[in-house]
Amino acid sequence: MSAVQPRHAARESLAVRIAVPFGVLFTALASLSTILGGIEIEPAAAQQPPAPAAVLRLPAVDVLAAEAVDPCADKVVIAALAADDDDAAVRAFGGGAEFRADVAAGSAPCVSLDDPNRIWVVVNKQRPLQPEGFAPASLSGTDLRATSLSNEMLPEVTVALERMAAASAAEGAGTLGINNGYRSYDVQTRTYESHVIARGQPGADAVSARPGYSEHQSGLAFDLIACTVECGMHEEFGGTSQGEWVAANAWRFGFIVRYVQGETGTTGYLPEPWHIRYIGPELAAAYHHGGFRTLEEFFGLPAAPDYAH
Ligand SMILES: [Zn+2]
Repeated sequence: MSAVQPRHAARESLAVRIAVPFGVLFTALASLSTILGGIEIEPAAAQQPPAPAAVLRLPAVDVLAAEAVDPCADKVVIAALAADDDDAAVRAFGGGAEFRADVAAGSAPCVSLDDPNRIWVVVNKQRPLQPEGFAPASLSGTDLRATSLSNEMLPEVTVALERMAAASAAEGAGTLGINNGYRSYDVQTRTYESHVIARGQPGADAVSARPGYSEHQSGLAFDLIACTVECGMHEEFGGTSQGEWVAANAWRFGFIVRYVQGETGTTGYLPEPWHIRYIGPELAAAYHHGGFRTLEEFFGLPAAPDYAH
């Protein structure tokens, strides 16, 4: 954490001061004058009738508008983005809730939800990776038990996953394994085509992303499995103790369950309790505490129930 004070601290204290209407100040001064007994504080001012409502509103509006500073002009934000330290950039906004609010309001042009190299990228059926053939700069494999060869993710995601898996075991939920982590554009092409052959295109689109449209291609997502002696299928994960624990606790490690029950109309996917997406600890905490259920809702994006073509 940077030693520099988050930008919002100054903003909030200023806003609080300014938001106090003058009428309240007069009343407070009058009370203070009474409390202090003999010490008179501007008795003439305290006895004045309240100013008309229109007059009371003007100063607050003017000063608050002037205080609406561009978060992207903040030196700490600029430095964190330049260093590719996404979580530090979120903290520099004042934390996940402030970051989310600024992005959703369109007041943070330095934050691109299209950038596949950022933890806040949003990939869905309306928002392919850009470019569609994107591949992460670096990947690292996990030591967790894996039931496919796709056990790689971005290094910081691998670290967070292994911390989560250790906590799941330590807190009695059981052993986590991984089915699929990173899938390249080419692998996703084969995955999707196998679903098309098995189910037809509409059936495939309900369960598998088209190449260029999968979170797995970003290196930020993976599919979990529950392991005892053997590891189960990822489709079985939701009904396990590990699945319940992950649904409740993934946010502590920077993750969200990306496709939840009842949100197919927004995400375009049936529920996938096993598909976990990394957004970093700051954003995941804001997502959890804010009660959000989709990344689209979180960032104020339109629903993406289907492809544009
Ligand atoms: Zn998945």
